[in-house]
Amino acid sequence: MHIENEIKYDFSDVLIKPKRSYYTSRKEVDLERKFSFKWSSLVWKGIPVAASNMDTVGTIGAAKVLSRHNTLTCLHKFHSVEELREIPTGIRKNVAITIGIAEGLNILYELGDHLKQFKFICIDVANGYTEQFSDFIKQVRDEFEEKIIIAGNVCTPEMTEQLILSGADIVKVGIGGGSACITRNVAGVGIPQLSAVIDCSDAAHGIGGMVMSDGGCTCSGDISKAFGANADFVMLGGLLAGHDENSEKITVDEETGEKSVKFYGMASSTALEKYYSDNMKIDYKASEGKLVNITYKGSLEDTLLDLLGGVRSTCTYIGAKKIKDISKCTTFVCVNNQLNNYFN
Ligand code: 5GP
Repeated sequence: MHIENEIKYDFSDVLIKPKRSYYTSRKEVDLERKFSFKWSSLVWKGIPVAASNMDTVGTIGAAKVLSRHNTLTCLHKFHSVEELREIPTGIRKNVAITIGIAEGLNILYELGDHLKQFKFICIDVANGYTEQFSDFIKQVRDEFEEKIIIAGNVCTPEMTEQLILSGADIVKVGIGGGSACITRNVAGVGIPQLSAVIDCSDAAHGIGGMVMSDGGCTCSGDISKAFGANADFVMLGGLLAGHDENSEKITVDEETGEKSVKFYGMASSTALEKYYSDNMKIDYKASEGKLVNITYKGSLEDTLLDLLGGVRSTCTYIGAKKIKDISKCTTFVCVNNQLNNYFN
């Protein structure tokens, strides 16, 4: 047994200190960034905010909206080849096809020529610590040399390096912080997200890789904090769920008229029952995700613009003209309390 005494921080443990700024308007801030990668020779220009590959978030409908604003969608991995083939060619550069180890490479082969316009492949497993996962990344890199590979999830620097050296361009960082996640209760495993991003991005950048902070953002301020912690990309689940473009049915409460939508973790029993055979369910047994009813939020575009507006606002407070400058302009202050809850 070993204990690390250094405190690790979550988004809620810090605030970003304002600094002298030349920028008075959010319009002056440029959130698009041009990326080149460690392994892939492709270039991607866009706003590095990504919809999570959850089936209540990363849908084709969501991708159509998010792509209009040059943000990324990691599609959930339960789309059929036919559905993927019908994705309009114009948005494919902003869409990642997600695969898991169990499904293997078949869907990528079956896409054939259609795969050409997709720049990103996202390899997603709940636990990125197995040797089998690193080997699978190597295999995908060998077969699809030119693609930008996103792989995860891990939350420690050593494993971030391992995944990059195996062939990932971008490592998804985050275990236990998601809004529909119960891994910290079930398994007692995880690292507070802000520190995980700081430590893993340092490791990734040292060897030419990048990280995508995945999970734990509850508001636009958290997205800015993730960029402040040096995340190259930020992935959102719950914040982008509950809209017209997400897949779940809208339920109306007969008494109050309130509209709500189901949102569940991809390792919850709801998702396991929907997608996996009985054998898989027995293997998994302990669900690591929960099912919640969330308030219906209307149009995804309005939410996205609000969130991006928040990040622009952070930039004007700290003197960052571009998204890449956020971390250079960030000083975090540790806080005991960050919100005034008088009216809650
Ligand atoms: P959020 O933005 O909602 O806080 O977090 C989204 C992330 O939570 C996802 O991108 C994924 O990494 C993680 N996640 C989604 N479903 C589950 C689940 O059932 N269990 C766990 N442990 N994590 C999940």
